[in-house]
Amino acid sequence: MRVLLTGAAGFIGFHVAAGLAARGHEVTGIDHLGEPHPRLKQARLDALGSSIRFTRGDVTDPERVAGIVREAAPAIVVHLAARAGVRDSLSAPFAYLKANEFGHLCVLEAMRRHAPGARLIYASSSAVYGVRHDGPFREEDRADEPASLYAATKRANELASAAYARLFGLRQIGLRLFTVYGEWGRPDMAVWSFADAVLNGREVTLYDGGAARRDFTDISDVVAAVIAMVERSGFDHHEFPHRIYNVCGGASTSVAELLGMIERACGRRAVVRERPSPPGDTPFTAGDSGRLRADYGITTSPDVAGGVERFVAWLRNSPEAMRSARDE
Ligand code: NAD
Repeated sequence: MRVLLTGAAGFIGFHVAAGLAARGHEVTGIDHLGEPHPRLKQARLDALGSSIRFTRGDVTDPERVAGIVREAAPAIVVHLAARAGVRDSLSAPFAYLKANEFGHLCVLEAMRRHAPGARLIYASSSAVYGVRHDGPFREEDRADEPASLYAATKRANELASAAYARLFGLRQIGLRLFTVYGEWGRPDMAVWSFADAVLNGREVTLYDGGAARRDFTDISDVVAAVIAMVERSGFDHHEFPHRIYNVCGGASTSVAELLGMIERACGRRAVVRERPSPPGDTPFTAGDSGRLRADYGITTSPDVAGGVERFVAWLRNSPEAMRSARDE
């Protein structure tokens, strides 16, 4: 299949690109390679080598996106480019709105005009479920009380996609991803930043005593879901050509428990600095992945301890990735 992948130099984009290329798909990747962590993005691209075709481009440039879609003539677009992470959306609201909402619209418009028969798989987020204290969250649950601008932009993506499905019959899948972790991950996220700090004897900042709970999702499960969706047009049988899927590991783990797993994997105790929870953070996530299992036969892994061990082994053996992430 010919696949156009936005955000190809990002954490999830890198793994999706590698997974699709390994299965013989023809991948064209786009990324603007901008902040944050431009060196890490370049290192990911270097690791992908010639397995994909890469074009530097900004998804908020409508002409550029239209040109790339026209030229790549994809059967599938996987749209992952965005400003990710809740906390920065408070300090950079305009950048988030532009990258996430305007960027998504640029992709929808380019597809409508130049690839109307192609399918779109795009990243939404568990953040759309807002502040909740119990779960598991199901796709049909309410998602109209976002706790951050980031969450609001992701919900706006879902609504714009629903409108384009209704208006133009554009076939789409939205993935509500739950806290993804794994090799080549994001240095701003807990798994990387805790492991880096513990391995190097630096302080770990723990919000609210690590009480927040997250449904941590192994990157390999996200890749498996995207591959299944690329290779099978499974949602064609649904009446409405836009469908949302939770992609989650299936276990809710507290951040304090996660730190314990990281300490065991590193063989060292953490030096902890406690802080109150920052605004925008939610106390709890736990997803129900029954829809993903039913429609695509994907079973996700709740083994966070095993995934953390693999991540720490990778980080120990990746001094260049560690350095490049910390220096920028
Ligand atoms: P990431 O920051 O590693 O990757 C995003 C990539 O998009 C980056 O390489 C960045 O350079 C690129 N990008 C940003 N703005 C761009 C623009 N205007 N033009 C071109 N490229 C641009 O983040 P990630 O963790 O890989 O997340 C991928 C997607 O999944 C995002 O949409 C994110 O919101 C979503 N998501 C991630 C998680 C998670 O836990 N990692 C959870 C929920 C949702």
